[in-house]
Amino acid sequence: MRSPEELVKNFRIHGRKVTPQRERIFQILQGNVSHPTAESVYAELVREMPTVSLKTVYQTLHELVDMGEISPLDLGTGSARFDPNQLAHHHLVCTRCHLVKDLYLDIEEIQIPGEQLQGFEAGAAEITFRGLCPKCKAEISEQSESG
Ligand SMILES: [Zn+2]
Ligand SMILES: [Zn+2]
Repeated sequence: MRSPEELVKNFRIHGRKVTPQRERIFQILQGNVSHPTAESVYAELVREMPTVSLKTVYQTLHELVDMGEISPLDLGTGSARFDPNQLAHHHLVCTRCHLVKDLYLDIEEIQIPGEQLQGFEAGAAEITFRGLCPKCKAEISEQSESG
């Protein structure tokens, strides 16, 4: 994702609305590695701007997706998440608390056998690894120790 300043300029160039709420959403997303949901962006924003609506957050996020600035992610955690990290990467997902971490792996060497491609020209692939984060792993082992 571009910097909040560049996004403001770009939104104006394309005749899209720029409001203080939208600028704040850009700032919340910048460098955000938590893969936030619309609801979590809203929760952060509403603390500072009590009049903001969830609809404004959704609209802004969807415009950023349209512009290719952020990626929508469906990681099977129950709600759509948004990723401002536009570098090719993969994800580690905790199935218990839904923590999502970026993962940089070189999967170029994975070759799909010709007959499996079924005529497709395969492009980019993203891998989601599901498991337990360190915190959940520790909590589960504590529970099993205490009975
Ligand atoms: Zn977890
Ligand atoms: Zn990511």
